[in-house]
Amino acid sequence: MNTELEILVSPYTGYCFGVKRAMSLLEEGLARSRGMPVYTAGDIIHNPQAIERLESRGVEKVASVDKLSEGDTFVIRAHGVHPRIIENAERKNIDIIDTTCPFVKRSQDYVKLLSAGKRDIIIIGDRDHPEVKGLSGHAGRKPRIIKSMEEAERLPELERAGVIIQTTFSARESESIVEELNKRIPDLKVFNTICKATVKRRKATMDIARNVDLMLVVGGKGSSNTRRLHYMCRDRNIMSRHIETADEIDESWFRDIRRVGLTTGTSTPDWVLTEVKKKLHRISEDC
Ligand code: SF4
Repeated sequence: MNTELEILVSPYTGYCFGVKRAMSLLEEGLARSRGMPVYTAGDIIHNPQAIERLESRGVEKVASVDKLSEGDTFVIRAHGVHPRIIENAERKNIDIIDTTCPFVKRSQDYVKLLSAGKRDIIIIGDRDHPEVKGLSGHAGRKPRIIKSMEEAERLPELERAGVIIQTTFSARESESIVEELNKRIPDLKVFNTICKATVKRRKATMDIARNVDLMLVVGGKGSSNTRRLHYMCRDRNIMSRHIETADEIDESWFRDIRRVGLTTGTSTPDWVLTEVKKKLHRISEDC
């Protein structure tokens, strides 16, 4: 590299509304627990660096509420959980702090509504994602979970069905899937539950990505919305790297690079992005 790096940062970085809210409720839980551990069902957010800091402050992940006792503090993550977990916690008189994002809650309510209307429920999303697992629990009967056109085409004949979309799913892919479902199912009710925060973030990311030589997408490797930002760039032949921390950045990436774009997933803490920016400025100065 022989010219200073120009760094373009997306206007939408750091925690989204739902993650900010979850983290602030978790802080309340930590204050309430007076030094005792605060338990979460799985990671409260998909970011290992944030989780590491929380663990050092007494946040512990548990596989099941069976391991908890009366009076323990239990935090439900932003993605929501299967209602059975909440019922078990209530039965055991556990202190519950529910940080389920209001947008995820709205999807859960739609699932309940469709279930009450005796419709088959189709969830467009990743069956292993905690949000989808939680949503499935709100359906009276087993929902059908699909994430591709091929899976949509393989669905059996259905007369009446309702569709819910994972909040972080691709708008483009879900549109084609819904189009296919509309052709196949005579009475189809669709709730577009894709979160606007992720839509704005994707658009801003692509606006920057089209104008840079390299895109750096910062966030947990297990974060589906972060991975999607990276795939979106890659699928449009834009050079992109998905990193979790500044330590992963290699100076050799910036040979012949003049403009670099920065974006983050919705669960990436600001301090992680700050470290990345600092490293990029150091690399730029050293050139
Ligand atoms: S991405 Fe949207 S749905 Fe998910 S936590 Fe953030 S605000 Fe809520």
